Order: sequence, then C-alpha cells, then structure tokens
Amino acid sequence: MADWTTENAAELYGIGYWGEGYFSIEDGGDVVVHPEGSGGPGVNLRELVEEIRHRGLHTPLLIRFSDILASRIDHLVECFGAARREYSYAGQYLPVYPIKTNQQRQVVEELIDAGRRHNLGLEVGSKPELLIAMALLDTPDALIVCNGFKDRAYMETALLAQRLGRFPVIVLDRPDELPLLLKVSHELGISPHIGVRCRLATRGAGKWADSTGDRSKFGLTAAEIVEVVKLLRSEEMLGCLEMLHFHIGSQITEIRAHKEALREASRIYVGLHDLGCKLRFVDVGGGLGVDYVGSKTSLESSMNYTVQEYAFDVVAALQEACDERGVPHPDLVSESGRALVSHASVLIFDVLGVDGPIGRAAPQEPGASEHKVIRDLWEVWSAIESENAQESFHDALELKEESTTAFNLGYLDLAARARAEELFWSCCERILNLLPDLEHVPEELQGLEQQLSDTYYGNFSVFQSLPDSWALDQIFPIMPIQRLHQEPTRRGTFADLTCDCDGKIDRFIDMRGDSRVLPLHEPDGRPYYVGAFLVGAYQETLGELHNLFGDTDAVHVRVDATRRYSIEQVVEGDSVEEVLSYVQYDRRDLSERVRRAIETALYKGNITLEESALLRRRYEQGLSGYTYLD
Ligand SMILES: *Cc1c(COP(=O)(O)O)cnc(C)c1O
Repeated sequence: MADWTTENAAELYGIGYWGEGYFSIEDGGDVVVHPEGSGGPGVNLRELVEEIRHRGLHTPLLIRFSDILASRIDHLVECFGAARREYSYAGQYLPVYPIKTNQQRQVVEELIDAGRRHNLGLEVGSKPELLIAMALLDTPDALIVCNGFKDRAYMETALLAQRLGRFPVIVLDRPDELPLLLKVSHELGISPHIGVRCRLATRGAGKWADSTGDRSKFGLTAAEIVEVVKLLRSEEMLGCLEMLHFHIGSQITEIRAHKEALREASRIYVGLHDLGCKLRFVDVGGGLGVDYVGSKTSLESSMNYTVQEYAFDVVAALQEACDERGVPHPDLVSESGRALVSHASVLIFDVLGVDGPIGRAAPQEPGASEHKVIRDLWEVWSAIESENAQESFHDALELKEESTTAFNLGYLDLAARARAEELFWSCCERILNLLPDLEHVPEELQGLEQQLSDTYYGNFSVFQSLPDSWALDQIFPIMPIQRLHQEPTRRGTFADLTCDCDGKIDRFIDMRGDSRVLPLHEPDGRPYYVGAFLVGAYQETLGELHNLFGDTDAVHVRVDATRRYSIEQVVEGDSVEEVLSYVQYDRRDLSERVRRAIETALYKGNITLEESALLRRRYEQGLSGYTYLD
C-alpha cells in the first residue's frame, strides 16, 4: 500500500482503543507516551529508550511512568465523585490499593504520594504485605485493609499499628478468626476495627469466577456473619464491626457480574444494619477490569464497561438499598489494583533476528531429470488461483506426504526432499496471498497465516516479564514502537531467549477477536524495539527465573509540561551473579573451580596462556553482566 500512514498503523495495532489516551503515534512513526492522558505532554518512546540505553542500561527494559499512576488514581476518584454527585450519595469514596498487584517499593511509594490527597489506603493479604503497609503508609486516616490468613502475630502487629496512628481494618476471612482476634485485642487492650468478608452466592465472571460463590476459599456465609454479630454483641463489641467486605475476583469482564454482586452485598449491608450494626464502610474489593484488547467486549482480555459505569453501579446499588430502608449511606472503599497500575508500565525488548519460512522467492522450475513429485508440485504451484485455492492446498499436501514417503524408502535424496518442501511452502504462500480475495476462507486454510509466519527473536523472557501471557493466556497489546509510518509487510510471532517451547508470544489483539500473528516490519539493520503495553499489574512479581533470566532493568520516568522528562529512579536488573545466588551458587566458588580447571589445562598444554586469560576475562564478565543479551 503506497499511501500507508500512521493512522493505518494506529488502526492496525488498536492503540487508540486500548491506550486510554496515554499512547499515540507521531508523524515520524514513533510511539508517543502521554503520561497525563490524551492532550497532555508527550514523550517519544523510541528516543527515550535510546537515551536510557546511552546511560548504560539495557533492553529488555521496563519503563514505569509515574504520572500515569497518578492519573489513574485521579481518574478513579473522579469517576466516583461524579457518581456520588449523580446519586446524591452522602458517604465518602476511599480508594485502596491492593499491594499484591505490584509490590515494587517504588510503585507503592509513588501511589501513596500521588494518592495522598485522596486518602489512598492499602490492602494487604499477608504478613509481609502488612509490614510494608505499616512502614510506608503515613497518610493520616488512610485505611490498611487486612485480608488473608491471619495468625496471632499478624493480628498483634495490625492492632499495634493503631498506636502509630495507622487505621488497620482486620477483615475476618474465616469464622474462626474472631475468637483469636477478641483474645488478642483484650490482651493488648486495643479495640479493633473489624471487617467481615462475605461470601456472596453470586458468582463472578471471567477467569476468576471461582473466587466467589458458595465454595470459595474466603468469606463468611450469611449464617456465619449472623454468628459473628451475636458473639460481638455478647462481648459488647458490636461497635467494632465497621466494614462489610467482598471481592468477586479479578478482571471481571462483564458489568452484569458486578451489578449482581453489588445488589447482594447491599442487601447484606442493610440487613446488618437491621441487626443493629452501624457499619461505616462497604468495601467492594477489586475486579475492576482493564481492556487489554480495546474491544469493549466481555472477552477474557477485555471488559464491556468503563470505570465510570462501574462507579455509577457501585454508588447506585448502595444508594438504592439504603434509601429504600432509610439506612445511612456508608463510605465506599474499592480495592482496584489492576485498573490503577496496568497502564503505567511498558516493557521494551529488541528483536535479535528474524527467521522466515523457506521459499520466499519464487521457486525455480524443475528440470526434466528431477523427481516426478517435484515436477508435480511445480505444476500445482503454477496453477494456483483463487478459484482452486483449497483444491491446490490438498494437492500440495498430498504431494508433500508422497515426497516424505519416497524419501523414507530411499527413492528421493536429501537435496530433492528439500526441494519438495520448498515448493510445498511456496504453494502455501501463494494460497495465503489469495485468501483476502476469497469470500469465505475454508477452516483448514485459516491456520496458514500462522504456519507461514516469521519468528522474531526477542531479547526477553516471557516467564520473567510476561508470566500471565504464558500462564493465563492473557493477551497484552504488543507493537513496534518505531517505523509506524511504514507498512509492516511481514507477519510474525515472537520467540524469547529461553529454551522452552512455551517461551513465545503468538496471540495478539485484533479488533475481530485475537490473531495468531502480528504484522511487523522487515528488518533494516537498525535496532527494532517492540513494546508490550499495560503490563504494570501482576506481571512484575510473578516472574520466574526460567533459564536464569533475571529481573530486567527498570526506570521511572516523569514528564513535565514542557515535554521534558526526567528519570527519577533506576532499578538495575539482576546480574548473572545475583541470579545464580538465588539458586545457591556462590560466585567465588564457581570462579575458583574454573580457575583450577584452567590451571590443569595449562599444565597439560591443552590451552595457551592467551586463551586462558581470555576465558577468565569472559567468565568474570559473564558473572557480573546482565542476564539478557547486550
Ligand atoms: C487481588 C485482590 C484485589 C485486587 O483485584 P484487582 O482485580 O487487581 O483490582 C483486591 N482485593 C482482594 C481481596 C484481592 O485478593
């Protein structure tokens, strides 16, 4: 296409659909990041990557945009503000960030800072997370919502945090936590802020549908909640019950699931009021989705609602249930993790090389002396047109099988077999090129695109940097960050550096659903950077050391109104030495063993002094270096 423009690229990669205004393409073909959202100042992502590399950092590189974090909090709070005005809602809205979504200190610190004016609190699901929250969260009155399994030490720590001016709410996840909590709080003489997590009968939607419903791991049934109330009343501590909590799972793709859960939970809130519990907070948990594909559908990697619609529904559900019974509006808490942090992180990797399928150039006509199967394949290739595409495919397939049989029986030599394969793939490619002309593409031909796609080797590890892509088949928006003014003429999938056949990315967003190949540019000898976007939630700490590829370098970038950016924080990735120490190898021990092996080889005359010096140097550099390719 001669008149390819960056607009075509924007449409192709869907940047306007999933980017939420944070990403665009400039006329020169580079991706631009707008950390304050659309209309705000922008920074050229390719230039940024190159400058960061000039500072001595490496790709793969994780870039976090601090201003996007701030913008996401503001957006969430604004949406709830609009909803509270719309429904004349009397309670406050308090955002709470669930630490597990991204526990990196820099991320948590930046969220606390940016969220201070909104009283942003933290949700913790374990003792280590509680310890983080207590130390970091210094916003007065901001909540620390304490979930997860709790032992005596967890409870004591949380209660004592009140002495530091913190506001921990201990949410009962299981009925047997209450007696222990009462005991511990009597001993310490600290009266607890108690929450109760209810087990809704309503099921979530999407991958995490099982985290709610009657058989879920956490939460109290209606009967158990009534028991809690009885016990608290008998202890004259009913006033300590301050929060009703629920969580129906993550990445809820359908608004209907939220609505149903909210309806049930609102009834429970009102019911508790009838029992004499004057709760202050209703915490609606997480689950607010992110539209990774931008299709606004209930597909797994999408969502069929907006943040604003969600906020309206939360507020409306409680307002209706409360007003119907004349019950005061509680303060609303949400634990949206994914929706706050996904957009802020971009993973950049470079392409190391491309492997295309054989037979790109038009095949050579076989000579009369060549095997019949080769000449037949040539005939098939020559006659391919849209009318006979499927038939030709069958013929080519049959001939290829014939050639394999002939080879196995010794009638065809290796060179001839290679010729046959080459011709077969040429046939496939010719058929593939005709598919756009076909009204209906037969199912067996639909896989051709992937079979004929190129493999782009990326300098990264899926297991370390995009674990959800591998473990959950999560689709992330992935696209080149330069040359977008040029039409991408190749179709590729990515293979990572690991030796694992799962170390690949072969599902991509597509406005029609998802695609098994991504349009990419022909290599031109210059660095080709690819961005994986919206990777800020859950990806960073689940990563594992497959083949000992470690944490990537990470930087935090801030942008000011004059489009100038500053690099605020640099978190260097793992060195080989560090990664090895995680699996209990000691650098000095390894070096010493290699030194001894070299001495032995020198003694035997198997290595020269020069070679031994080079080997030592490479070995030591290898231990200090980055785990990825420089
Ligand atoms: C995981 C979790 C969250 C965060 O969910 P998101 O879908 O990321 O918003 C919130 N609350 C609880 C209790 C959780 O377990």
